[in-house]
Parts: sequence; C-alpha cells; structure tokens
Amino acid sequence: TSIRDSFILIKSLGSGSFGNVFLVKDKRTGLERAAKELTKSNINERIAPEVYNELMVMKGLDHPGVLRLYEILETSTRVYIITEYLSGGQLFERLSRSPKVSEKLAAKYIFDLILALSLCHKNGLIHRDIKPENLLFENDAPDAHLKMIDFCLSRLGIINEGSDQKAQVGSVNYMAPERFSGECTEKSDIWSVGVILHVVLLGKVPFQGKTDAETIRRIIERPLVTTGKSWDTTSEEARSLIESMLNKNPSYRPSAQEILMHPWFYLYTKNTI
Ligand code: ADP
Ligand code: MG
Ligand code: MG
Repeated sequence: TSIRDSFILIKSLGSGSFGNVFLVKDKRTGLERAAKELTKSNINERIAPEVYNELMVMKGLDHPGVLRLYEILETSTRVYIITEYLSGGQLFERLSRSPKVSEKLAAKYIFDLILALSLCHKNGLIHRDIKPENLLFENDAPDAHLKMIDFCLSRLGIINEGSDQKAQVGSVNYMAPERFSGECTEKSDIWSVGVILHVVLLGKVPFQGKTDAETIRRIIERPLVTTGKSWDTTSEEARSLIESMLNKNPSYRPSAQEILMHPWFYLYTKNTI
C-alpha cells in the first residue's frame, strides 16, 4: 500500500528531524491534513511501543485546543502520522510582525497552551519538546488559536539515537533544569511554557549564555532576574506567574490545572474552562 491510495500530496510543509511533513488532501473527504513521514530505517523499523501507546492516547483526544491526530498509516518502508493541518504559521513569525505584544494577547496565547497541556497531562501525555518552532496558529485569522505540534514525538529519538540527550538536538533554551539530569515530567512542559511566556513579554529567553554549556549552567543554577527596564512595564501578575513556572524545583512549579486559575488570566481573558 501507499499513502497515495488515500491522500493527494499538495506540498512540503517542512522537513523535521525524522523525515518530511507534507500538506495532503484526504481523497475520501477532500479535507486538508498534515502528514508527517517517518522513514522506518530512522526509527528502527517500528515506533517504540511506549511512543505508539502515547500516539493512540492522543488519537483518542478530541478537543479543539489539542492538535487532532487522525490516523497512523504504515507502509513497508514508512510510517505516516496524519494530523490536522495548521495554516497560520509559527508563533514568532506572527509576533515579529507586531514586536510589542500586549499582555492581553500574550494571555490568550498562553491560555491556549496551558489548556491543551491540562488535558494532555490529565491523560498522561507529556509533550517534552515545547519550543517556538512547535507552536503554530490554526489559521491566519487575528483571533486564531495557538496549538502545539510534535506531541510525544521527541521520544522517537530515543530509539533512533540511542540516548535521550542526543535526541535533544537544537535549542536547549526551552529545557527545564531537571532535563539535564535525565528527569522529564509534566512539570518540565510547564517550565518550557514559562520560557515561551518570558520571551513573548520580555523579548528574550531568561537564561541565555554564550554557549550551550553556559546556558545549561544558568538554567540549572542562576536565579531568574525579574528587575530591569522590560520588567517595569510588566504586570505584577505576569511576573508572579513567570516566577512560579520557572521554579528550579519541578515539584514547586504549578500544574497546568493550577495555572488555569492564575489571576493573570482573569486580568486579561474571559476564557472559561
Ligand atoms: P520535527 O519533529 O522534526 O521538528 P515537526 O513535526 O515539528 O518535525 O514538523 C516540522 C515542520 O513542519 C514544522 O516546524 C512546521 O513548519 C511543519 N508542520 C508540522 N506539522 C504541521 C501541521 N500539523 N500543520 C502545519 N505545518 C506543520
Ligand atoms: Mg518540530
Ligand atoms: Mg520533533
């Protein structure tokens, strides 16, 4: 069998660390989908059972805030993960068009992420790779929702590369301190969203060093700085939320469920759960 039996290939959306992502059209419904292609030699012939199980849990989640996973197709050489297509582009592409982000807008975006996380965490799913490239708007509308792609999939790298550490190619800037001693829980996702919030409101990551090693050391050791010019125009509520999400100790970090109740969101949104 081939993916072309069921889907028409429209264009490439990007190439990921395990293969390409395509925009496709479902022949049966005429609807657009994203198809992430994994080459079997890259994932050792099959998706590891624990990753497969997580993908199955994701497939069962049907909530507008969570990237919809429709099906997993397998051919003799490839695996395709068919998801909802998000046409609105990456978070920071949009933000770069309007450099000064109001707290109101930031609260809307962060609420989308935290609501999705609260549902996923409740179902035992940890994202593990929340970073700007994995945050896409659903469409081009000004009020489009922000969603996370690439759920669970960073763990594919464990079988591929042999070690979790090596699979973490790319930016260390969004990784929680405990990740560097091999620990990764729901609270590690919360840290990453805390870094995203810091970047959105203050225009830079909180623990940037000159090298990755220095960045990692700062993430682990250096207290968060919450003074300075950019903090002066940031609300007390936003500061307290960022501080709590960037607590070095994961057990002191609030859960997604708790963050949904944070006063910062009441300041700026009318969102209800
Ligand atoms: P990787 O795990 O290698 O980072 P991703 O799943 O993040 O791969 O996909 C790579 C790129 O393909 C993304 O940064 C994005 O630009 C595009 N892409 C992936 N999934 C979708 C989707 N559902 N809708 C639109 N574009 C997507
Ligand atoms: Mg990605
Ligand atoms: Mg990935």
